[in-house]
Amino acid sequence: MDTRKVYIETYGCQMNIADTELLVGLLKPHGYEPTQKAEQADVILLNTCAIREHAEERVLKRLSELVRHKARKSGVLLGVTGCMAQHHREQLLDKAPYLDLILGPDAYRTLPNLLAQEETDAPLVAVRLDRDETYEDITPVRAEGIRAWVTVMRGCDKFCTFCIVPYVRGRERSVPLKPLLGQVRELAEQGYKEVVYLGQTVNAYRDGEFDFADLLRQTAKIDGIERIRFTSPHPSDISERMIETMAMLPKVSPYLHLPVQSASNRVLERMERGYTVEQYADLVGRLRRAIPGIALSTDIIAGFPGEDADDFHATRDFLERIRYDFAFMFKYSAREGTKAHKWGDTVTEDEKGRRLQAIIALQERISGEVNQAFIGQTVEVLVEGPAKRQADWLSGKNGQFKTVVFPGNGAQPGTLVSVRVATTTAHTLIGVAV
Ligand code: SF4
Repeated sequence: MDTRKVYIETYGCQMNIADTELLVGLLKPHGYEPTQKAEQADVILLNTCAIREHAEERVLKRLSELVRHKARKSGVLLGVTGCMAQHHREQLLDKAPYLDLILGPDAYRTLPNLLAQEETDAPLVAVRLDRDETYEDITPVRAEGIRAWVTVMRGCDKFCTFCIVPYVRGRERSVPLKPLLGQVRELAEQGYKEVVYLGQTVNAYRDGEFDFADLLRQTAKIDGIERIRFTSPHPSDISERMIETMAMLPKVSPYLHLPVQSASNRVLERMERGYTVEQYADLVGRLRRAIPGIALSTDIIAGFPGEDADDFHATRDFLERIRYDFAFMFKYSAREGTKAHKWGDTVTEDEKGRRLQAIIALQERISGEVNQAFIGQTVEVLVEGPAKRQADWLSGKNGQFKTVVFPGNGAQPGTLVSVRVATTTAHTLIGVAV
């Protein structure tokens, strides 16, 4: 079989990065090898995201640069996969008529067949959403390292009013437990030390009678896997049993990303998030009592339609009250096709910018203060490799998923090292191995 080369550029979230590994895994048995250079590729794919603002412009601009490779060699195919392919196929066909392939997230399985078809003038489009597709039988080709990302469920049933995900990734469905654990056992044998479970609402995982807590319990039994993390859970799907499970399993990181989005009940209701501020705060209390020292992060949207000054101040005060370890904060930007899109923007861009800057500055201070509490403590670090900024230093993460750097002591990636923290920044703990 002749080897052909595939070049994939990935945009967006970790699930998309995992989907790129899946695409390579799908193509490998059909004689395709990944390449890092578009100029060497027979197939060029942009695996896209539809969540962020200006994502479409960025992808169209990149396509206009990559299209020259089709002139370089006959038979080079250019395609778009992922959420934007699903959401904006008409615009893509209209603005990039030279595209050969448009493939939504539930149609990746068709890719080898589409590539094997005779070349036609019309682009090949596959965007049917599939309620059952989990790709459970496909082995992704993963990046080397100590951490493996494993998609355990796909899609979302929540329909938050600002979010396009349920429309482009379809309904919730989970990879059955047995093949999933088989995959993780193989990863452990290959030397991966940390497994990160992925899903749009990862803790909605379910296979018959087994839920997400069962998945964590079964994973913790696998020798070789030292740490288990997951992202992103939805607050409404956190059960008491899940909290108990996290508390009792030392391998499960004491870290949780818990998107709140806003701390005004009025806004939460318009977002259709499914919880109130009081319920969310109560959940944080239960988590902190059960898992002392648990690190929490969150997502905040500034300037959602209808958010007034009081709503914003409630969110700002909530950050002070909860004291997250860190937060991802964004200005609201309407996504076509969502419920909130119809409401238009009620907060000006300038005001959104001011609100965003205010909470970023606040959270930066809080993150700095939270990290200072680690000074003098000894933390267990899973070494990942050389530190980015200091030569001869090593970098890794502690259980709370904080980056820890320390002067190299010969430790290899994948080993656990105890580090005494000497100083901190808002984003890093700095110390020495003990
Ligand atoms: S829970 Fe809400 S924000 Fe998260 S993916 Fe589903 S619809 Fe989007």
